[in-house]
Amino acid sequence: DGGFPTDYEIAKDAEKEPIKDVLEPWGIDNDDIELYGDYKAKLSHDGVDRLRDNAENKEGNLVLVTGMTPTPMGEGKTVTTVGLGQTLNHVGEDAMIAIREPSLGPVFGVKGGAAGGGYSQVLPMEDINLHFTGDLHALTSAHNLIAAMLDAKISQDEEFDVDINDVAWPRAMDMNERALRDIVVGLGGKSGGTPRESRFLLTAASELMAVLCLAEDLGDLKERIASIIVAYDTDGDPITVDDVDATGPAAMLLKDAIKPNLVQTIEGTPAFVHGGPFANIAHGTNSLIADKTAFGMGDYLVTEAGFGSDLGAEKFMNIVCRLGDMTPNAVVLVSTVRALKYHGMGMWPADLEEVKEAGVDELEAGFANLDKHVRNLQKFGVPVVVALNRFPDDTDEEVQAVLDHCREDLGVRIAESNVFAEGSEGGVDLAENVVEAVDEGDEDDFDHLYPDDAPIKEKIETVATEVYGAEGVNFTGDAEDDIERLNDLGFDDAPVCLSKTFHSLSDDPSKKGAPSGWELEVRELYPSAGAGFIVALTGDVLDMPGLPATPAAAGMDIDEDGNISGLF
Ligand code: ADP
Ligand code: MG
Repeated sequence: DGGFPTDYEIAKDAEKEPIKDVLEPWGIDNDDIELYGDYKAKLSHDGVDRLRDNAENKEGNLVLVTGMTPTPMGEGKTVTTVGLGQTLNHVGEDAMIAIREPSLGPVFGVKGGAAGGGYSQVLPMEDINLHFTGDLHALTSAHNLIAAMLDAKISQDEEFDVDINDVAWPRAMDMNERALRDIVVGLGGKSGGTPRESRFLLTAASELMAVLCLAEDLGDLKERIASIIVAYDTDGDPITVDDVDATGPAAMLLKDAIKPNLVQTIEGTPAFVHGGPFANIAHGTNSLIADKTAFGMGDYLVTEAGFGSDLGAEKFMNIVCRLGDMTPNAVVLVSTVRALKYHGMGMWPADLEEVKEAGVDELEAGFANLDKHVRNLQKFGVPVVVALNRFPDDTDEEVQAVLDHCREDLGVRIAESNVFAEGSEGGVDLAENVVEAVDEGDEDDFDHLYPDDAPIKEKIETVATEVYGAEGVNFTGDAEDDIERLNDLGFDDAPVCLSKTFHSLSDDPSKKGAPSGWELEVRELYPSAGAGFIVALTGDVLDMPGLPATPAAAGMDIDEDGNISGLF
């Protein structure tokens, strides 16, 4: 129809180089990589080690891309991450990109693919969005192997002391499947085991995914897997993966998944796409192995944290940078006209058509949300650059209103970004602002919001009041008992990973803007012992989303010649 081509059409028309040729100028030769076809590669363990050693002697600049509270369609963090990485190279810097591997849940759900879009994509987008190099499948298998070995012990080993009401390891699959969210297992008489309630979660939400993304190498991966708590015995003592003899085989299934994947952007710069933990019950950023390796290749690393800055970025700063010993040099906060209007209209559930009709008044009413995210990020002592990701329907008047507000009212850097429509040509202002912000910043100013040894409750209260804007925290249900158990088990020094809805800064998805006058309710806490953090569950936790009546999948197809449509 002469309109803007779809992501897949753009991807299909793009000239790809063989990945080995893309990587060669970055100091990676054939011995370092294992090819998965012409356009995908995994880095070998030797390659990873060599590049990480390189990185030791360099001052890398870490740029985190995050966003305001998004509409359900996403605001373009991945697009901006890829686009900024491309543009930094375009303006003469050596920049690497590291993003998460898409999960089939969102791909088939509402959001669609997660390989960027327009002229800021990673390629081959259809492979990356679908089975890629099989990491998600490996994780699903390893997760369910542990579940099967645990259940075999429960039903077949009379010596095995387990509290059947305190089994903590669910099943996992890589599909939005609400019918499996809560299930009963062990049916079918004596041979089926002991009936009990269980759950499925999305593979992206498995602790194994978090573990893979925080592990340094295979040895560390094994140690972390070994310590994952899968159940408790009748005395309330933890039963670990090691106690059910599953450490070795689970790690074996992950032997390739732990190797970081390399692909290319549409402009031919290399990008890591590795690991994809959820940003609610896990930390929401790609693997640390990819991050650390990337610094052996380029001077800049642009990486993305999931959901809004209250989730992914908070966890990146307080958990990932703490555990991985990293310091961010700048944060890019992605905002859009459509998300600002959505907040200004206090809209729930979201209706994109209505948002499109709204004007500058609704937009300005939504500034409260953007402002809160800016202020939150500034608390970490890292320079902030707002990226206004421009969509085709945005008017000049609307764009100007956002630019003026950020510059005049907030005194924060802002750049309009057109990387979706134009690739690096559309990201020069953003990239220049990022380089300036990095140069102005001082790594010594970076700080986590709470120290390791703060009491668990205090850590949660800090995030709730400082980041979410809550007045306080209510510990309900079993939360108090859980905290006591965590202290007894020696987890009091671990950072806390708060699981909260991403639809609002508060724990109520219907509240838009910057909600005030509310208290966060924490109803359950448990250790992610392998990952090294405590998970605190609040109001609405979705570790197994469902599909809508007409999911993105319903619009996807493949023709006789293998041409795909509908994958955005
Ligand atoms: P996030 O990473 O924040 O969830 P994505 O980068 O995946 O968001 O973008 C969400 C969707 O919006 C994708 O389908 C993407 O192609 C599309 N998109 C992003 N930015 C733009 C833009 N500037 N114009 C048009 N579509 C866009
Ligand atoms: Mg994304």
